[in-house]
Amino acid sequence: MAFEVSEKIQAILDMINEFVDKELVPMERDIFEKEPAEMEPELEKKREMVRRMELWAPLHPKEYGGMALPLMESAMVFEALGRSPMGLYVFGCQAPDAGNIEILHKYGTPEQKEKYCRPAVEGKIRSCFAMTEVEVAGSNPTWLLTTAEKDGDDYVINGHKWYASSCDGSNFAIVMAETNPEAESNHMKASMIIVPTDTPGFNMVRNISIMGHVGSGYNSHAEVLFQNCRVPQENILGGEGMGFVLAQERLGPGRIHHCMRWIGIMNRCFDLMCSYAKKRRRTPTKVLADSDIIKSYVAESAADILSSRLMVLNTAWVIENKGVKEAMKDISIIKFHVANAMQRVIDRALQVHGGLGMSDDTPIAWYYAHERAARIYDGADEVHKISAGRRILREY
Ligand SMILES: Cc1cc2nc3c(=O)[nH]c(=O)nc-3n(C[C@H](O)[C@H](O)[C@H](O)COP(=O)(O)OP(=O)(O)OC[C@H]3O[C@@H](n4cnc5c(N)ncnc54)[C@H](O)[C@@H]3O)c2cc1C
Repeated sequence: MAFEVSEKIQAILDMINEFVDKELVPMERDIFEKEPAEMEPELEKKREMVRRMELWAPLHPKEYGGMALPLMESAMVFEALGRSPMGLYVFGCQAPDAGNIEILHKYGTPEQKEKYCRPAVEGKIRSCFAMTEVEVAGSNPTWLLTTAEKDGDDYVINGHKWYASSCDGSNFAIVMAETNPEAESNHMKASMIIVPTDTPGFNMVRNISIMGHVGSGYNSHAEVLFQNCRVPQENILGGEGMGFVLAQERLGPGRIHHCMRWIGIMNRCFDLMCSYAKKRRRTPTKVLADSDIIKSYVAESAADILSSRLMVLNTAWVIENKGVKEAMKDISIIKFHVANAMQRVIDRALQVHGGLGMSDDTPIAWYYAHERAARIYDGADEVHKISAGRRILREY
């Protein structure tokens, strides 16, 4: 793979880095102190600035107003945006909308695209993705209790989901439900169905209170009860039994973007750690950086960042040049490797800051709590290690 960054992308990255430093870093403390709804007017102003800079929706289709950057380039943009907790939202490429838009664009009917995909890209509406269930293991995606039964021209959905991120205030959900229980393969039993969140029977029970997450608005995670929730059959996405095919499509490039955002977080924490180590005195004449143990934290963190970055860009290159299927082993490896590397880097940065690291005077403590989830969502560490190990051993 080639490592050069084109002039065009370098110019975009420079603009994003400047914007993050000037416009987003100064308002970061708000996320510790304000409700998301209170922050919304200020965030909307920033989103408008991004639109005027023509940097809106770097990932999404051009015909709907996005930049449609290829995977390798969008990956680097995610790294730059990851340096601020608000980066992705302000640039119109936050999860779970990003993944939903991707599959709507690829598999949606023309009507579905106009009704859901276009306004989601434009940032006029938000969406959520409801797959994980309360009663059964989310790590086993073929085991779903939620059903969508045909009745006349409709599907009637019943089931109990949770962790529907960003459900609060969203306009529609993409719901994974069993439509074909008689299918021979467990992988062909479920489908994705678009459900407007104001449909009777779509009952948001609560926003779950989660370590490090604010608990409402776009940064929330909901429990949802589907009780005879009726939607037209035309709301099916990509055809009956296609749920897992679409889920794989959604998660491949999605994991590249998660990992690059995490590398952005590592870069930020690394900068904070190094600058603090250079200025914090441990004696009247020595700073923390003079200590060899602090130098080893710096070196280990640099190694975590560099190895993560090379692995993720290499995986993005494989996806772009050979397809998602060829990259399955690498996607699993980066998912657990980078999530753990990020936690090590955040932890060292917190440690070097001492008591200051535990406070909300830097974003490190927020990252420490907020990003713990990275080792669980989109496949827990164990699931990816088992999958990668199985694929590797198959070759022997
Ligand atoms: C912040 C956050 C956001 C999320 N957003 C969404 C969303 O938008 N939409 C959505 O549908 N879901 C979402 N999820 C849910 C997430 O995808 C699931 O939590 C995840 O898939 C794990 O499923 P589970 O919680 O049911 O854990 P389980 O499957 O019950 O597993 C529990 C633990 O067991 C271990 N384990 C699991 N399988 C194995 C195995 N085979 N061998 C050994 N150990 C194993 C792992 O350590 C795992 O953490 C989100 C979760 C979080 C934390």
